[in-house]
Amino acid sequence: GKVLLTGGTGFIASHVLDYLLDHGFDVVVTARSDEKGQRIVKSADQSVGKKVSYVVVADIAKEGAFDDAVQSDPPFDFVIHTASPYQLHFDNPVADCLDPAIKGTTGILKSIKAFAPTVKRVVITSSSAAILSPPNHRKVYDESSWSDVTWDLAMNPQHTYRASKKFAEKAAWDFLATAQPNFDLATINNTYTFGPVPRSLADPSNLNTSNRRIFDLVKGHMREAIQPTAPVFTFVDVRDVALAHVRAMTVPEAGGKRFYVVGGFFSNPKLAGIIRANFPALEGRLPVEGDDDFPADHWAFDNSRSKEVLGIEYTGLEKSVVDTVESILRFEE
Ligand code: NDP
Repeated sequence: GKVLLTGGTGFIASHVLDYLLDHGFDVVVTARSDEKGQRIVKSADQSVGKKVSYVVVADIAKEGAFDDAVQSDPPFDFVIHTASPYQLHFDNPVADCLDPAIKGTTGILKSIKAFAPTVKRVVITSSSAAILSPPNHRKVYDESSWSDVTWDLAMNPQHTYRASKKFAEKAAWDFLATAQPNFDLATINNTYTFGPVPRSLADPSNLNTSNRRIFDLVKGHMREAIQPTAPVFTFVDVRDVALAHVRAMTVPEAGGKRFYVVGGFFSNPKLAGIIRANFPALEGRLPVEGDDDFPADHWAFDNSRSKEVLGIEYTGLEKSVVDTVESILRFEE
């Protein structure tokens, strides 16, 4: 089979690419420039039988941006769409985040419908942000839940990113319902993701957002004052997220479903404790020992669909953190 994978430079996409190649798929990644595309191809495992190439899509928010990229010879069987802005702050919420997230999603679906009739399924990287409604939490979250974030709130930079994920995913399901394309859809609603940084990463200043918390601990940025983990945080390992994408693509029953992909809870004191126990040399950079700062009766998650349909066996926090730290320390060598 042949797969188009968007956002090839990304943290999550780099692991999806590894899994796709390991499962024997031919992969074309999209990147915003030739320089970035070449870097991905170079860093991918180029051993016999593993094939990856790239195509440039400079601006995913532009009308018809994916019209050329979805056409390939031989043609694509699947598309995995991960490209979307993920930062803590956006100067211009609409232009910098909401447009690329939402128009990027509807745009690629339109291009597939118009120009790639062989595509059977599309998997979109949505987010737990499209599920959770802080601070009005449910008791237990699962795939039946949609974030209550509004378009008005999206104009507040603090809420822009999570709103972009909700509105982009919603637009995708709406497109499926109204345009009735040949392909079906599955979404991966993964939570805050830890794991080894991409091999193709040039330097840690380009580190993806969700690994930055571990990066800050490793670099001593939280030594004096550990940020509170208020109110409650969940994590998942990037390799579980990558496998979920591949399974969501290949398992027939995954079509038409969202998957809440979440491995467990974490707190910053817990992260510091794991680093302390596994990397004694980093002791001088770590904050003093502390307890979990969670309220006692916090909300819960139900990830059973991801286990039953996709067969995900979740990686524990310790392994995820240790492997992330090792990948960050490589930059100090
Ligand atoms: P990265 O920042 O590492 O990857 C983002 C990818 O999207 C990069 O390839 C980036 O390209 C591309 N991208 C961002 N903005 C644009 C744009 N305007 N036009 C074209 N491409 C763009 O983050 P992640 O790997 O963490 O994120 C990948 C996906 O996973 C996103 O959809 C994100 O919302 C989702 N997600 C992430 C979670 C996490 O905790 N990490 C949790 C839940 C969902 P470039 O390198 O050129 O900037």
